[in-house]
Amino acid sequence: MAEHDTRAANQAQTARAAPWQPVNATIGYWKSVSRLWEISWTRSGGEQAIAAAQRIRFDGLVRFARSRSPVYRDAYRGLPERPLAANELPIVTKPALMAHFDDWVTDPQVTLAGVTAFMADRQHIGQRYLGRYVIWKSSGSTGEPGIFVQDEDALATFDALMVAHLDRLRLATRFPLDLLTRGGRAALVAATGEHFASIASWERVCQSSPWISARGFSIMEPLRQLVAELNDYQPVFLASYPTMLSLLADEKRAGRLRIEPLRLWSGGERLAPEAGVAIEDAFGCPLSNEYGASECMSIAFGCAAGWLHVNADWVLLEPVDRDYRPTPPGEASHTVLLTNLANRVQPIIRYDLGDSITVKPGPCACGSPLPAIQVEGRRDDVLSLRAPDGRFIRLLPLALTTIVEEAAHVHRFQIVQTAADRLSLRLDPGADRGMVWHAAARALRDYLTRQSLANVHVELDKQGPIADRASGKLKEVIAMERSVGQG
Ligand SMILES: [Zn+2]
Repeated sequence: MAEHDTRAANQAQTARAAPWQPVNATIGYWKSVSRLWEISWTRSGGEQAIAAAQRIRFDGLVRFARSRSPVYRDAYRGLPERPLAANELPIVTKPALMAHFDDWVTDPQVTLAGVTAFMADRQHIGQRYLGRYVIWKSSGSTGEPGIFVQDEDALATFDALMVAHLDRLRLATRFPLDLLTRGGRAALVAATGEHFASIASWERVCQSSPWISARGFSIMEPLRQLVAELNDYQPVFLASYPTMLSLLADEKRAGRLRIEPLRLWSGGERLAPEAGVAIEDAFGCPLSNEYGASECMSIAFGCAAGWLHVNADWVLLEPVDRDYRPTPPGEASHTVLLTNLANRVQPIIRYDLGDSITVKPGPCACGSPLPAIQVEGRRDDVLSLRAPDGRFIRLLPLALTTIVEEAAHVHRFQIVQTAADRLSLRLDPGADRGMVWHAAARALRDYLTRQSLANVHVELDKQGPIADRASGKLKEVIAMERSVGQG
């Protein structure tokens, strides 16, 4: 496993074979290998060793942020210089950090203007910012756009965490041997990669393993076309969002998708346990579930007992209530505070991530020493719309939201299905509402036409977006209450 240095996150869509670059791979490779040793060593020491590693890394990160990040220096001003417990430190939020981006990062060469210009130039796809950083952009569950910079150490750590997870699986399956004998094709079905940081790690893992070839497929493609392409490609490994895997599982059950993968991988969205079981049943192979975010690519991995295990040696998660008081195990939190112990260029310390998690009281049946959680993330609906020939075509919520975000540069909106062939767009009032509506509607109609749904009406709702009363979160894509049929 090695890291390569020419791929950025937003590359998942490009088809390619994996070139093996021994010279370029060397430094990243050894970084990852040593990280992997460190992870194995720490975890073999059990809960206490993991807690000790977390403590040491937390102190180191806080010291570093205090000395190198003006934002944290100001936030921690007046606090004692001794090692501090997490709950002694103030909480940070994405809007506040993004507003002071240049003072948040610890490398003065990294600037918001520089990063924005870098991302705007499509020529830079696949390259690293300043030759050393990978950039991820995300809107996340709060709707505010964020830009996240990852350094070499963070990437090596995330890659090693994934390999550590795969090694556990390898003991239980014939996965690597079958990969070799069946051509080792991996299919990654994703949005533009910047929405889905984890896909980038798969790309790196695949690229550095010369016996695996990886190919990206876009979620924007009509489902029928995607199915045909996957049938041609015959992947032994398939990675995507849980909603997309559910759609593909239905295609597999219907006999249209004719692939026999050995391993499935889901990330980027919350995977409901029932959905996970249904996907595994349809494909007849195990599904690995990863919980991650742009702020911290690999927060936890799923286990056979149905829980997610936090990579607690590299991540600190604090479940809290509305007033940021700790939520006890067994209770769903209002939000969770994230500390990413692997990345120093843009410190994430007690950051309000917005997800609701429940910590499992007591040990997990699978025997993992890592803390077990469940995540209640944002859940958007898959839409099922009627085509002119009466067929129902299903659309992925992430595809719809990506189209609106990219065309209209808007981050707070709602797409509501109001009839079998009717969508309504809810936008906030404001001076540019007309322009936003115009751009979003045109992009949505283009997309619907490509999906053989040119007959679907798109209209502007009189009201603005309405947040969920219980959670306060905004569901961006809402299906009709009654099921309108299956594709
Ligand atoms: Zn477990």
